[in-house]
This record gives sequence, structure tokens and C-alpha cells, in this order.
Amino acid sequence: MNPTLEIFSQGEEIVTGQTVDTNAAWLAQEAIQCGFTVTRHTAVGDKLADLIFLLKEIAERADCCLCTGGLGPTSDDLTAEAVSTAFNRPLEFDPIAFEQIKDFFVRRNRVMPEVNRKQALLPQTAIRIDNSWGTAPGFAIQHQRCWFIFLPGVPSEMKALFSESVKPNLLTRFTLRAPHLVSLKTLGLGESAIQELIKDISIPTEVQLGFRAGTDDVQTKLLFPFHYPKTALNSLVTEFSLCLGDYVFAIDGLDETTGDLAFEVDKLMTAKHTTLALIETASHGLLAAKCVGYDWLIKASYEKSIALSTQNLNIEELISTAKNLALTTHQDSGANATLIQLYTGDPEALIDKNKSIQVLSVLLVNKEFYQTTHSIVGPLTRKQNQAALLSLDLLRRYCQGKLL
Ligand code: ATP
Repeated sequence: MNPTLEIFSQGEEIVTGQTVDTNAAWLAQEAIQCGFTVTRHTAVGDKLADLIFLLKEIAERADCCLCTGGLGPTSDDLTAEAVSTAFNRPLEFDPIAFEQIKDFFVRRNRVMPEVNRKQALLPQTAIRIDNSWGTAPGFAIQHQRCWFIFLPGVPSEMKALFSESVKPNLLTRFTLRAPHLVSLKTLGLGESAIQELIKDISIPTEVQLGFRAGTDDVQTKLLFPFHYPKTALNSLVTEFSLCLGDYVFAIDGLDETTGDLAFEVDKLMTAKHTTLALIETASHGLLAAKCVGYDWLIKASYEKSIALSTQNLNIEELISTAKNLALTTHQDSGANATLIQLYTGDPEALIDKNKSIQVLSVLLVNKEFYQTTHSIVGPLTRKQNQAALLSLDLLRRYCQGKLL
């Protein structure tokens, strides 16, 4: 049995929905990847009695608890006080924490307000977790069955503290058997289309299948238990990969480091020593933005006048225009590859979420043309992002030899 872990978020703004509890979501994923069984998420407002009650409950039922928020200097930051009362450990002044808090202000040329002294008060026997990213130190404490870890609420501080000190400690403190997560990242397929493609695969009961649809990809996730044999894991992943075919642009969780589509295209373009010039319309500069910092992009432009003049063309006319543009752009830029993105649709189609546009991507490399067309619907931001991704995906497919 894996140790159980609960997540507990403190703050009135979490309970009232003014702040979305991203800390809990992030920590839950981290904890599962470490090998914990996450059993519960709770959010509590700034009420001392509620906090005390919850802490006592968790101490009896979980092996570990990650708590965020409420470590600040103001009167609504009640975590240390609640721990002190719930576990009967008086608050003690920690001179090292106090020096670190004072230092934080000195480094910023600011005078430390007197209220910040409160953050140096930690429950007796608590182990301080140094915080070089903010003023509030975290702390950890064992009570009854549970090892509690209290971290600041600010997500960047919380993540830094968790990754640098909490996680390494958890991995030695608990006997954890981390499951193995493999994610197949696809572009151009919705969840239901994926479901249809994989329907004949028989998935062993101990493997958990899940999906995550994001703005830049749809991920098919396979969670394998710790002891799952490597060869069986590889063959199931291969089966999924074959069913999803060319839509898969990366597989996360095997040996290679993967990233988003632009990251994958970067690896391929760099290996092929290819350079690129591009013209985009529907994506309004987003295609170039996705390639920012990559050496192989030597020229990029958003051409509003071209977008306006090609909106009403039929698809054959659009293809012929794109090919001509590719030829002239290729001559001017000197890049090995030229990518042209055009679209058709009535004048309101781009901004009307219920209307679709047809996006054409044409790639010219070594005097050969490659092209894809896609129909995109939804709000303007979705159309822009999808257009950028689908044009970039044409480049990925070319580099992987999937267009020949
Ligand atoms: P600090 O002293 O730095 O304020 P703190 O531990 O007191 O740290 P809070 O005051 O509870 O943290 O939260 C600080 C900010 O961090 C909040 O205003 C909110 O923007 C963000 N935050 C807090 N908790 C969460 C959470 N669970 N998920 C996402 N953001 C959060």
C-alpha cells in the first residue's frame, strides 16, 4: 500500500473562489508521481477553529499532508497558530528564521515591518524549511500518524520550496513506489476521436487510462503501477502509438526528454540543419512567437494585406497563391524551407466563434511542395493558436518524413 497524502489549502480567497486552487492541483500531481496515494483535497478559510479541527482530523487519517497558505505576517495568516493549538506545541521564536526574514528586506533596501517578526514564530519541534524566495519560511512537523508540511501560498515560492527541499526529503522519509506515467501528445485529434482509434486495445486492469485536453495538445495518459514489467509497458505504448499514428508528436515518460510541439520541431530542424522563412496570416504572429529563440527561424512575417486579399478565394486559388508566395519568399530569404499560412472564410469568420475558417499551410523544401488544410472553429484566440500549431505541425511531419 502506498502512503496516503492529503492536500490542504488555506485562505478565504480559495474557499470563496476568488483564487483558483492551482497549488492543490500541482501538488497532487507531484505527490502521485512520487508514489503517494492522494486521498483528499480540502480548502479552509481564515477561521482558527476550522483549521484546528481539520488539522486534528488529518493527523489521525493520513500519512502525509501538504498545506499551503496562511504563513504570511498579517492577522488572517493563522497556520502556525492553528498548528500550535491543535498539536499542543507552543510557538517559539526561531532566531535563524528571523535573521533570514530581516535579510530578505535588507537585500531589497527595505525596512522590515514589525509584523513580519510573527513569521519567525514556529511551533515547538517544527523543522524550519528555509525560503530564499520570500519572507515566510515553511515548516514540517510530525503529529500522530501524519507528517505535515506547511508551505507559503504564493505558487512560485511553494513550487520552489517543494522541488528543492520538500520532495527530496519525502523520497527518503517514505517508502514510495512511484507509478510510471507515459503521455502520448497529439495534435489534430479530439478526445472522442482518440477514444475511437484506441477502442480495440485491451488495457490491463492495473493500467489507468486518462486524457488531458489542453490548448496546445491532447494527451493520452497511461499510468503504470510501480512493478509493471518494462517490456509489457513498451509494447502497450507502441500499440497506442500505432493506433494514434502521425498525430503523435511526442511521447513523454519514456527515455527521451520531450516538450511542446515547437520544442519537438526544434530538435528535428536542428538535426536536419534546416532553416525556415515563414509568412503567417490567421495566427497573427503566434506562429513566429512559438519559434522565438530557435536558431533555424531566419525570417517571419505576419501579412495583413495578404490575409485580406485571400480571404475570399476558393481552395484551389488559395493553394496557387500560397505556392507563388512560397517561391518568392524562398528566393528573398535564402532559407532551405519556406512555410506559408493562408486562410479562407467570410470577413466575420475569424472573430465569430460559431463560424469556421479553412487554414492552408504550404511548405516548400528542395523544390517540393507539401500542404495541409484544416477547418478551425471557435473564438479568435483558439483559431489563432490552432492555426499556428497546425502550420508548425506540417513542418514536424515533413522533418519526420511523414509527408513523403
Ligand atoms: P505570503 O506571506 O507570501 O503572503 P502566505 O503563505 O501567507 O504567503 P497567502 O497569503 O495565503 O500565502 O497567499 C498569498 C497569495 O498566493 C494569494 O493571494 C494567492 O494569490 C496565492 N495563493 C495562495 N494560495 C493559493 C493556492 N492554493 N493556489 C493558488 N494560489 C494561491
